[in-house]
This record gives sequence, C-alpha cells and structure tokens, in this order.
Amino acid sequence: MSSTSAGEPRLTADGRPVASTGREATGTGETPAVSGRRDLGRALLARKAALGGMIGFLLIAVVALLAPLIAPHDPLAQNLGDNLKPPMWEEGGTAAYPLGTDPLGRDLLSRLIYGARYSLAISISAVLLGGSLGFVIGLVAGFFGRWTDTVLMRLGDIQLAFPFVLFAIAVLAVSPERTPWHLILVLSISSWIIYARVVRSRVLSEREKDYAAAARALGASRWRVLFRYIVPNVWQAVPLIALLDLGFLVIVESLLSFISLGLSPPAPSWGAILAEGRQYMMITPWMAVFPGLAIAVTVLSVSVAADGLADTFDPKLIHGKFRRRPLPPAPGTRSDPRPAVGEPLPLLRVRNLTTIFPTRAGVVEAVRDVSFDLEAGKVLGVVGESGSGKSTLGLSIIQLVDAPGRVVQGEIHFLGTDLARVGNAAMGTIRGAKIGMIFQDPGSSLNPVRTVGTQLEETLRQHRQLRPGPAREAAGRALAAVHIADPDRVLRAYPFQISGGMQQRVMIALAMASEPALLILDEPTSALDVTTQAQLLDELTALRRRFDTSLLFISHDIALLSGIADTILVMYAGQVCEIGSRDQVITTPRHPYTQALLNAVERVAIPGHGRLAAIAGDPPDPANRPPGCPFAPRCPHAMPICVEVDPAPVVVATGHSAACHLLDPALQAGHQAEREVSVR
Ligand code: SF4
Repeated sequence: MSSTSAGEPRLTADGRPVASTGREATGTGETPAVSGRRDLGRALLARKAALGGMIGFLLIAVVALLAPLIAPHDPLAQNLGDNLKPPMWEEGGTAAYPLGTDPLGRDLLSRLIYGARYSLAISISAVLLGGSLGFVIGLVAGFFGRWTDTVLMRLGDIQLAFPFVLFAIAVLAVSPERTPWHLILVLSISSWIIYARVVRSRVLSEREKDYAAAARALGASRWRVLFRYIVPNVWQAVPLIALLDLGFLVIVESLLSFISLGLSPPAPSWGAILAEGRQYMMITPWMAVFPGLAIAVTVLSVSVAADGLADTFDPKLIHGKFRRRPLPPAPGTRSDPRPAVGEPLPLLRVRNLTTIFPTRAGVVEAVRDVSFDLEAGKVLGVVGESGSGKSTLGLSIIQLVDAPGRVVQGEIHFLGTDLARVGNAAMGTIRGAKIGMIFQDPGSSLNPVRTVGTQLEETLRQHRQLRPGPAREAAGRALAAVHIADPDRVLRAYPFQISGGMQQRVMIALAMASEPALLILDEPTSALDVTTQAQLLDELTALRRRFDTSLLFISHDIALLSGIADTILVMYAGQVCEIGSRDQVITTPRHPYTQALLNAVERVAIPGHGRLAAIAGDPPDPANRPPGCPFAPRCPHAMPICVEVDPAPVVVATGHSAACHLLDPALQAGHQAEREVSVR
C-alpha cells in the first residue's frame, strides 16, 4: 500500500482506492468499515420507522436467543390438568401461564418464545445459504458471461417457473422426519435466483467500466479484477434483499408448517403453533391469535427496516458517493464560450475536457482534451472500444466520475452553465432534471428493493411536484409511452421480476420523467437482443422528437450509431480521433481507426469476427502512453513521425475533422515535394 499526501486517496498498486478493502485506515483515522457502519447508523437514525423496525426485529431475535433463560416452562412439557387455560387477563386464566395453554397443557408463551428460535434460525440460515449461493452464481454468470451465464440463468428461469409448493412437497412430504436442515435447504433453493439476478446485472455493468478495462490493461488477472474491483462495487444490494427475503421466508416457513410440511412434531415453530390453534379457533381463539401476531410483527419489523434503508443501498445513490471537486475559474477562461459574435450557443459545448484517474502505475488520462458541440434536439453518437474513455466522457459531462478520478481541465457549457465549475448543490439540481443518464444494464441502475411504481412515482413527484394520486397515474402513462403493454402489473413489480428489455424501458421512462434537455445513454441496448434493441431505438427516437431532447449516445457499435446519430465522434485512447456528420464519418472516414472500425463492421458476417475484434492489436496501456499517435502500433499507415508527434485535429470539411498526420497539409506538401524531387 502506498502513502499519499493528506487529502489524497490512498491507492493500491494498480490504482484502486484502498478504502474499498474495508481494512486500511483512512485519512480521518477510522477504518472504512467503521465509516460504513457509521453511515448505516446515520441512515437508521434519520429514518425513525427503519430504526423502529430494526429495534423490533432485534428484540425478537434477543428473545429467541435467550429462550432457555426466559421461557417460564419447558415448551414440550405436558400438563393435561391445565389444558386450554385462557390468557391470564381472561376469566379462569393464571399468571403461571400468561398466554394460556394448548390442549396438551403446554405453556403457550414458552412455545412462542422457542418458536421464535426455530422460525428465525431456519429463515436466517436459509437467507445466508440462498444469498451466498445467489451472490456467487450472479458473480460468475455476470463476469464470465457466454455459456456460463446462459446455463446459470436458464437454471434460474426453470426454478422460477417451477411452482415452489410442488417443489416443497416433493422434498418435504417424502422425508420421514423433517429437520430444520430440510427446511433450510428448500427455502434457500427457492431464493437464490433473486440474489443471482441482481448481482449478475451489476457485474455486467461494472465489468465494462473504464476502471475495470484499465485494470485489465495494466495486467490484473481476471480473478483479481473480479474480487478486487467488481465485488466491492456490487455487494451493496445484497443486505437489503436479504432483509426483504428474511421477512418472506418467515412467512413461507410458517406456511409450510401450517400445511403440515414444516418441522416434525413436537418442535414448536410459529407456523406449527398456528396450525394447532386453527383447530380450536372457535373455543380458544388466543391459540391462533398469538402466533399470528408474532409472525406479523416480525415480518412488519423486517419490512419497515428494509424499506427505510432502501435509499441507503440505492445503487444510484451509492454510485453517487464520489468526491466531486468543481474546477476553479481558470485564468484566461472565457466566460462566454462563443467563438464569434452572433453565433448561437449550442445546447452543449465541450472544450478541451480532460479527466484523469491517478494510479500507482501513473496518471491515466481517461478523457484527453476532448471538444465537441451538441445542438438541441440532435443526436451525437460516441463510438470506441472498451477503455476508450467514452463512458468516462459521459460521466464527466454529468459530473459523476467516481473518485479518485476527476475532471482536471476544460469547459462543459450546458444551457449557459459551465458544469465543470458549478457547485455541487447547483449540479444536483441540473442532474436528473435537465440532464438524464441511462446506463448499459438497467438491472444495476434500478433499486432492486423498490417496486417500479415506487421509483417512478418518486421521480415524478420530485421533478413535477405531483401529489401521490396524480403521480401514480402519470407513472402508468410514462410506462405506456415506452410501449409497456401492462403498466399496472409492471408498476407493482420489483425490477428483478421483469425482463431486461422491460427494465430498460422503465429506465427510459424514469429518465424522461423530467423531460430533460439532454439524455446521456451509455450502451443502453448492448445487453438486449436485436429485436428489443430495435424497438427501444424506435421508442427513443419518438421520445426525443416529442420532447426535443438531445441525445449523447455512447456505443461500441458504429453500425448502430449510423442509424440514429446526426453526428459521430470516434474516440481512441481517451482522445477524439474523428468527428463529423454521420454521412461524413460513415461514407468518407478520414482517420485510419474509423476506417478500421467500418471495415470490421463489413467483416462481421465472417464467422469468428466480432465487430471490433477484427482490428489487430490492443489499445495502448492507459497508464503508460507512448509518445506520438496512440493508434500508431495498430495503424497500417504509420510513419516515423507518428511515433514521435501526437497529431492535431485537421479540419477536412465543414464540421468534419480527424487527428492524423496523413491529413496534415504541411506534411503532405513535404511528401509531394520529395516525390517531385525523386521523379526528377
Ligand atoms: S497519425 Fe499516423 S499512426 Fe496515427 S492514425 Fe494517422 S497515420 Fe496512423
């Protein structure tokens, strides 16, 4: 581990902040784990309902743990002389049996206290087992993809399609004796897929990010990238799902006991006590009321705690935990970015934008001196390979670059405001309201523990100041606008209960809820099948026209961009290598890298050739850029000057420029003169 100056994040050998390990001390003298617990504590205190729910659940758990010490009687001890005693406050009741007795004279309070032990132990064990299994499967499926992903996710689909009760009967009904382990196994198998789907979605998103690509480029092994880089960014959804799952499994365990598939008698689980009480409902209703209350209070406590903590684990808020530092007004920076008097200002004008990631191996310039304009209502397509900086460009514009990355230079003029220099509070009002962003994998952007309706309504209420009723109606209309056929069902669903295409439609509805002037889309369709991809592009185009929204569409697929973009910007190694109108870039590409991209598209029909895999060689090490043109090692036209001098952009036509020495007029004139001399 390195030591750094005060205030600077401490970094590992390959550039990740050490805070993510949870072991090393921070600059404030406390470990990140302590800091994380403090965040959780603050979140609980800020949400009184969540605090109440957590206290309620902890009390029940303590009662379960201390059962042998606090239960007044042996829960199995029979005393037929005292059978069916009413609670102590009823006529005929006695303080020896505060909640009365059952038909065998067993103390109901003692059985409920021990019942908490059984019910919670089984449910918590099932959550731990199912959650661990689902987490590992989600990691493996998302990270390794291909057939591993297909096989694991199809297994999950089969498990979801198979009725749980049938499965439970198949396992439990044939067991001569049903122990807690039988129930734990059945319950955990029923719940792993929820964790797996959520974790897989997040891994799919994280593995494509520039920091992961940079780590691979720096030589980190696949396992190191997975555990050191991906896992710290995907685990946050798991605790909250586990809380919700716990409440659900308490109910399911009780249900199984109620239908005689729970623990073998005489074990006193809550469901078993409830089932016994049902038979005496008309003469001794307390026998069913008390276990029913115990189940209801436990589930309510867990649900309220989970709901109150949902924001704490909201992926959008977690991803927002970056340390943004607005740039100071630069000496000599023009307050008015217009180059000429009278020229209309575009919606977005980016000039000389540079974003860096400090690493132990060196400073990585993920975005380097990028400039472009985007007019209102137009689509700018940004294309490049993984690690080209295109995603970081989008995050830089919306000012969501994760620490230790930061914008260090440039101007981002949006609706008259320089986003690189605006304060955090003002940026918060712009983000979401005037600029929206949609990421590649909606499964990692939607909050997995809130229904689609809740998330959509919250967004609508925030941006349009709607009351709950109208917000609900507007949420339904927003889903209908993105062609979701059954909006009411989807509003009630959790994100993991709907398909990837449906999730992305929900994300579009969320992003468009505030009718933003600019929508940044980072590979929004690459996780979808071709048919859904085409439908979504049509819907995006329709929404863009309806709201006159500009799109900054980031993709690795130049063919896709050629169908939607007005202007195409080609990025390589963090730089703009070519920019022009769609027709200029597609029909008359001037940069060898753009030409290689287009050639690769033409070869896509050849088996074994991916669109970008067909370009020979690899991008340069981002932490160790060689001098000269970054494309030189892969360029078929490279010249001696290319490995020495980084080419400047050359305007080749109105609105069309490319950074290549081949286009340098002075160089071309020199070559022409040399040719003429050699001919003579
Ligand atoms: S500057 Fe040289 S190496 Fe770079 S793209 Fe142009 S010809 Fe190729």
